[in-house]
Amino acid sequence: MSNINELYKRSIFDHNRNPRNFRAMEDASHSCDGYNPLCGDKVNVYVHLDSEVVDDVSFTGSGCAIFKASASFMTSAIKGKTQDQARETVTRFLGMVAGSSDPDPDDNSLGKLSIFQGVREFPSRVKCATLAWHALTCAMDKANGSPEESEPHKDVVSTE
Ligand code: ZN
Repeated sequence: MSNINELYKRSIFDHNRNPRNFRAMEDASHSCDGYNPLCGDKVNVYVHLDSEVVDDVSFTGSGCAIFKASASFMTSAIKGKTQDQARETVTRFLGMVAGSSDPDPDDNSLGKLSIFQGVREFPSRVKCATLAWHALTCAMDKANGSPEESEPHKDVVSTE
């Protein structure tokens, strides 16, 4: 068992039991729903934008441990970032989890998020790990009034 796998398991367990920013946001600027039919994970991601800064992020929903832990990590990682920084983080995270890009070992920009590399070993769980991130992008796209997205979000069902 490698260290990263051990860390991965412990972090998933901790965030699943004790998710960060797990609440509906009353004064959200925007929100977006996501649904992963393969596993049954459901999420609603809320963002509060102060001009360019995502000054609050939260989520509600139900699903498996990987989904909930990933959403919890996502809110912690994104809060306080500018929208540009947030999108950059989303892109890096999705690339890492999907295995399309190998993280540079000297690049610590994903920090604790790099534990989600472990999801690569379970292809059926990739959609669980990415669901909240797609919903976050969806919410930011709404904020910018641009319904056109660079990549189709097949698993995200918008309620608007
Ligand atoms: Zn799941």
